[in-house]
Amino acid sequence: MKLTIGHLYPDLLNLYGDRGNIQCLMKRCQWRGIEAETIVFELGDAIDFSNLDIVLLGGGSDREQMLVNDELKKIQPDFKAYVEDYGVVIAICGGYQLLGKYYKTEQGTVTGLDLVDLYTEQESPRLIDNIVLKSDLFDMPVVGFENHGGRTYINDNQPFGKVLYGAGNDGISGCEGVVYKNVIGTYLHGPLLPKNPQVTDYLIAKALERKYEKEIVLEPLEDEEEREANRYICQRFVKESKNLENSP
Ligand code: GLN
Repeated sequence: MKLTIGHLYPDLLNLYGDRGNIQCLMKRCQWRGIEAETIVFELGDAIDFSNLDIVLLGGGSDREQMLVNDELKKIQPDFKAYVEDYGVVIAICGGYQLLGKYYKTEQGTVTGLDLVDLYTEQESPRLIDNIVLKSDLFDMPVVGFENHGGRTYINDNQPFGKVLYGAGNDGISGCEGVVYKNVIGTYLHGPLLPKNPQVTDYLIAKALERKYEKEIVLEPLEDEEEREANRYICQRFVKESKNLENSP
């Protein structure tokens, strides 16, 4: 079995080490004997989505998001067809915002890819902190770090998770991220995937199932260190904040 990962515009969209997400996907495939290759796309490159199994869109500053704006219009029809055909996408922070209709900032509006029915508007203050959520997709809480000025509104879509600690999509709804078909959009940097192996394996399994048209059960890997780190983060942020709330 083999997976091809498309990394879109990492020279512009690569905040907080989003590239680590690619390394994690590759490694967890290779450890199981699944071949994995990554194709890096720069602005102007033609993208054959029919050749891709997982697409990663990383985070970016407002300025960098403006710079990819024109390119997004060119790739939109093919990217849309890929998503509608259950292509796997993981989009982080600035990349998550670009999945939607627009991202409105004080400096102007970035037109999104319009792949998922959502939109983002900039507000202050920036939402910067560690974040922990509970997603229906996994047993373990999902942990990460968020830093965004945008508030994202996901309309009737399913959120990625419920916020246990942190701000999430808009700091008010208690929801974080979005799940649409095989697309996950989230504000979690970290990088997300090394910290959350269950999210990585979800993406790998979905991509293999789509490509090979059969149910896939991935061979478990030795994740005790990751589980321990996850427990520590949950203990530190979720339990301690609950204790503070409950203290007289
Ligand atoms: N520029 C966007 C915002 O501030 C996204 C930032 C990011 O990718 N960290 O909301």
